[in-house]
Amino acid sequence: MTPRIVYEAAGFVLGLIFGSFLNVCISRLPRQASLVRPGSHCPECEAPIRWYDNIPVLSWFLLRARCRDCGQPIPWRYPVVELATAIWFAIQAARLHTVLAFYFSSHTGPSSYAPFAILANIATAILGFLLIGLMVMDWQTGLLPDSFTLTGILLGVCLIGLQAVFLGPTEDQILLPENRIHLTSAGIPNDTGNVFLTGPEALVGGRILAALGAFLLLLFIRWLYRKLRHREGMGLGDAKMLAMIAALLGFWPAMLSFFFGALAASIYGVFLVARGRAGSTSKLPFGSFLAAGGLIAAQVGDRIIDAYARLLR
Ligand SMILES: [Zn+2]
Repeated sequence: MTPRIVYEAAGFVLGLIFGSFLNVCISRLPRQASLVRPGSHCPECEAPIRWYDNIPVLSWFLLRARCRDCGQPIPWRYPVVELATAIWFAIQAARLHTVLAFYFSSHTGPSSYAPFAILANIATAILGFLLIGLMVMDWQTGLLPDSFTLTGILLGVCLIGLQAVFLGPTEDQILLPENRIHLTSAGIPNDTGNVFLTGPEALVGGRILAALGAFLLLLFIRWLYRKLRHREGMGLGDAKMLAMIAALLGFWPAMLSFFFGALAASIYGVFLVARGRAGSTSKLPFGSFLAAGGLIAAQVGDRIIDAYARLLR
């Protein structure tokens, strides 16, 4: 087995490249500009950026955060986004190493274990890329582009569909209590009578319902807020983003994201009011907090949900 550090290094480098692309998305998508044309250029003097001035993180330091042509400062957002994406990808690569090491050392689990874990890993990596981008875009422009949120929902459904392909014939069935409901045709021949939904249907349908449920829940909260406070608390983009988190992670991690996001936004709001920098009508970029909540939920959500479920048992 290749050592873990090799996985982490590969993930880090891949993350730097994706982070660099993410910076292009952040600069151009809210303005609805093309992602490919024109090529990278200084927004001040329009001079094209040379390849050796376009190396993620490193170039920003070598140029001392200034354009080589006009000397205008380059925002620190560029290296930070690249570094954050790189770290996110390195963490996912380390998780991938854990999955593969477990899989190669013991073959006791169900056949779908490795493909499931790997696909979930890819989903988390994609989610991090999208959330880091959305967090910065909402903070800077107040916009959450559909090209990120809707694409994320689509990718989530595709990945869960791909997971379903690897399900074994009797894995993940939704079973009804025996002797109460008798179905004769659903499920597989040797398991008649108690299968409600077969694995793939339950998996894909459940994830689509999760995304839809998260979307509707946020629409309801938005409506309630408008009724009570007579102003807009969040946009449709926030609801689409939560649906995206649900599509890529599942329903409960999405709820956890919302909880963390609302908590962080409230703390920040109280902090601003206390410092006299905001009143009760100031607007917060809620999407940025929701994105941060999503990143936390993607990282530690499983453990929190498990601990909570054990508490209730
Ligand atoms: Zn310039």
